[in-house]
Order: sequence, then structure tokens, then C-alpha cells
Amino acid sequence: MAAKRKAEVDQKSCVACGACAKACPIGAVAVWKGMWAKVDTGRCVGCGRCEKACPASVIRMKEVEA
Ligand code: SF4
Ligand code: SF4
Repeated sequence: MAAKRKAEVDQKSCVACGACAKACPIGAVAVWKGMWAKVDTGRCVGCGRCEKACPASVIRMKEVEA
């Protein structure tokens, strides 16, 4: 099985700024109830744009089994 990348949020450290949601080209990450970012891992294509956009460096790419 090939490894794929998915975005993962450290929700305790997320400041809910929404930069990741703005950066995601397919809307796979959104700020949930103004509290923290939540990734729809079924839709995330692992492009890494949210990781680059996060000012707090709390959204990171993680290798997962495809
Ligand atoms: S890795 Fe890409 S597709 Fe996945 S949530 Fe981040 S910006 Fe969206
Ligand atoms: S960019 Fe970072 S701090 Fe801002 S909502 Fe997304 S994960 Fe949270």
C-alpha cells in the first residue's frame, strides 16, 4: 500500500485564525464552531498548503496508509 499525506491539526494549540481554510484549494479544512480547525481527511489531497499557511505551525502533514 502506498503512503499518502493528510493534514492533521493539533487542536489544543490551534488559534482558529482560519488561514488554513483560506489556503485549502478544495475546502477540506474549516474552523469548527470558531474553536479549532478540523480536516475532512476523506477529501484532503495532501497538498500541504494549509501547513505553509498556518501562523502557529499547528497543522502538519502526516503520512498515512492509503
Ligand atoms: S493538505 Fe491541502 S487539501 Fe489537505 S487540508 Fe491542507 S490545504 Fe486542504
Ligand atoms: S491556520 Fe493554524 S492556527 Fe489558524 S485555524 Fe488553521 S490550524 Fe488553526
